[in-house]
Parts: sequence; structure tokens; C-alpha cells
Amino acid sequence: MDPSRLLDRFLRYVRCDSESGDERAFCELIESELRAMGVPFSRDEVGERACSNGWNIFASLPGQGEPILFSAHLDTVPPGKGIRPMVADGVVRSSGDTVLGADDKSGVAAIMEALETMVQGDAPHRPVEVLFTVCEELGLYGSRYADYGPIRSRQAVVLDGGRPGIIVNKAPAHVMLTVTIQGRSAHAAAAPEQGIHAIKAAADAIAAIPCGRVDEETVMNVGTFHADGKPNIVPALAVFEMEIRSHKEELLQKRLQDTQDAIAAACRTYGASYTIESERHAGALDVPADSPLIQKLQAVCRELGAQTAVEGGFGNSDATWIFGHGIDAVNIGTGMSAVHGVGEHIKIADLENTARLVLAMTRP
Ligand SMILES: [Zn+2]
Repeated sequence: MDPSRLLDRFLRYVRCDSESGDERAFCELIESELRAMGVPFSRDEVGERACSNGWNIFASLPGQGEPILFSAHLDTVPPGKGIRPMVADGVVRSSGDTVLGADDKSGVAAIMEALETMVQGDAPHRPVEVLFTVCEELGLYGSRYADYGPIRSRQAVVLDGGRPGIIVNKAPAHVMLTVTIQGRSAHAAAAPEQGIHAIKAAADAIAAIPCGRVDEETVMNVGTFHADGKPNIVPALAVFEMEIRSHKEELLQKRLQDTQDAIAAACRTYGASYTIESERHAGALDVPADSPLIQKLQAVCRELGAQTAVEGGFGNSDATWIFGHGIDAVNIGTGMSAVHGVGEHIKIADLENTARLVLAMTRP
């Protein structure tokens, strides 16, 4: 690992714009570097489905023993155009008018630096597979639609977390619902009894749906409510959107059923009808804390002087979809801080340790 080459690499990557959906230039840059290193790679053309003008990149370096997969996403959130990174006091920041893009170019740079180190050195290492994804920030699209066919690893480390040493081994199953309540319009003064009040039915349903931390494993939220109309007309239509996230699939299913029951009961009261459209975002990620992958990661983190902890979260990362394909996958911190805002920054020491962590995980 060459610290100055790593820093140059990171700065080069963040200067290459790649807001979600517009990753093409960065895909080409990464491919040209893989080619120069002599690391075999292929394009995983998820572009159209993932809403990207770029593509996932899958790279594979032969080695000895059990293969291991590393993953990071190529896209950044806006404002991410024309990023001018500033280095001072061992920290890299943006110039204050854009994000920095350490989310997730710290992960991409650490993986690429580790690859170059392995290619140039003669230390033995495990077979290394790499999956770079597009449009993570829009809804994990790159990992969702990735071709898992070529991947042989049964262990994966996603480098897309904040604090170094923090290993996220649990993430929720996630479903979003769009609920449409259909009533009947009528003149509110001349013939109110002929109307079916969609807003009242929707309001009753929402009142009966719990929001917030509804049990230890589950959070729920109703996030929108739409109903057009006029005060003198009984409203015929109301639509609301909500989500349920749970670490346990069976709890998610139970909350879905309860939600449907609450909507059905409210509609019955008013004689309204309803439809529920659901969009499944992810299944639950759940890698046991005593799994060999996490044990090794923790040992490596301690070696690097990082305090380590294994945590569940209610957010999701590409680890979720990778895990959904039968691979033990966890997300680990790279040191990126204050992400998704113009104050985003990363300590150079953390960037270096992230590259060292990748290298250490590839030891046979
Ligand atoms: Zn990220």
C-alpha cells in the first residue's frame, strides 16, 4: 500500500463526476486503471434497469484459498458536480459547495489501491473479487440488478459505512406501500349522503396504523397524503404512501397484514374501496456476529488500532442484495464523515487504514 498513491487516487476519483445515474465517465476511468494494472474485469450492463448511463464493474484477481468479494458504489449524491477536494491537517474536504464523494469513493479507492498493491507485490493472497455498483444512492439499484453468476465468493465486505471498525451485520427487510382509497364524489351541501368520503376513510386507516419504532425489530412510517378536491365536494380519492422495515421477515409480514386489515376496516366503515401497491426493496440482512467473516474483520480492525463493534441498523447498503444471493456480506466503515452534505470529509489516516483492511482480509 502506497499512501501517497492512495491519496492521489482518491483525489482523482472524487474529481471525476459521478452523480447517481451519470456514472459513465467514472466507470471508464476505473476500467482504464484496471486494464493498466492487468486485473481482469467485465462490464455488468445493468445501466438501463438501474437508471444509469454507466454499468457495474466486476473484477477478479486469482489467488489461493477461499475467494473474498469487496464492493463499493461508484455513484455519489448531489451536489456532486465539479468537486474540488481540499487537503489540510490530514483531512480531505470538499470546497464547501459540493459533497466530497468519500461516500463511496473512499471504498472504491481503498479497493483499487489494494488491488494495485497485490498485483505489484508477490505476497500470497486469496482470490479477490470486486463488484463496483452504480445507483446505490437511488435505491441500491446496481447491487439489486447485478449479475451474481460469475461471483464465487461466499464472503463479502462492502466498504460503505462511516466510523472505522463498525461492522453492520443486520439490515431490515423493507417494503413500501402506496395505498389508494376510492370513495364517491357528491355535492357536499346538496347531496352529501350520496358521497363516500375517501379522506375520512384514509384518515381512519392512518390513525389505526402505528408509526415509529413499533417493536424491537420493526419501524413503520406513513410519509405522504394526497387528496385533491374542493370544500363543497365530498372527496372521492385519497392516496398515501408508507413503509415498513423489519429485521425479521415474519414481523414484516405480520405488520403488512395488520396494515391491510386496518385499511380494510376503515374502508368498510365508509363503504370505500381500496388498492395497495407494494414495492419490495430488500430482504433482511443478517450475518451472525460469530461468523468467520466477522471474526476475521474484527481481528483485522483491532490490528489496525480501530475500536470495533458489530451493529444492526435500519438503513440498507449493497450488502443487503449481496447477502440475498447467498453470500455472507457485511458493511464496514471507511471513515467517511458527514456524508450527503457539503461538510463531508475523511481523515487520510482512515482512508489508508481502509486500504490496509482490504489487504489484510485478502491474506490466505
Ligand atoms: Zn454510500
